[in-house]
Amino acid sequence: MSFNQRQQYILESLASQGSVRIDDLARALVVSSMTIHRDLDQLARAGQLRKVRGGAVPAAPPPEADDVCVACYAQLSPRTQVVLHLADDSQRRACCPHCGLMMLSRGLEEVSSFLVTDFLYGRSVNGRTAAYVAESSIALCCTPTILAFEATSDAQRFQAGFGGQLFNLDGALAFVRTTMHF
Ligand SMILES: [Zn+2]
Ligand SMILES: [Zn+2]
Repeated sequence: MSFNQRQQYILESLASQGSVRIDDLARALVVSSMTIHRDLDQLARAGQLRKVRGGAVPAAPPPEADDVCVACYAQLSPRTQVVLHLADDSQRRACCPHCGLMMLSRGLEEVSSFLVTDFLYGRSVNGRTAAYVAESSIALCCTPTILAFEATSDAQRFQAGFGGQLFNLDGALAFVRTTMHF
């Protein structure tokens, strides 16, 4: 059995079992534990797993700069996150419309499009046509809190229940600018 075949077996076992033991692999592949040791070393160097005593576990996912807000470094939340697509095809994510709009207003001119998360439905929607409610009594994420809605009618109903000010994109940007005192 070649290294490639062993590698495939090891990685598949790792994926299905969450961890592998050298003894088990040696027995299953009918090779010495020394051979498995070397295989695991090689896979560990390639970043495909992490060796632990007597075996291996999946490699820790690489630290994703993507997991935190580009503006305030808060943990991203799927309920409120904003995704900014830049002209060079990269993307930046912000924790909530507050930070997303702040990045926009700071002149992140390279933004080709941006998606906000509809607060009611959790869907990604076009930030340019979304409606925003600022300073409602549902204070999530950053202060002043700003939430996004795909439909203005939803935003109005939300505002009727939870207060705050209703804006379109331009209004929300102006709001962010005046409240942030840059
Ligand atoms: Zn943020
Ligand atoms: Zn935030």
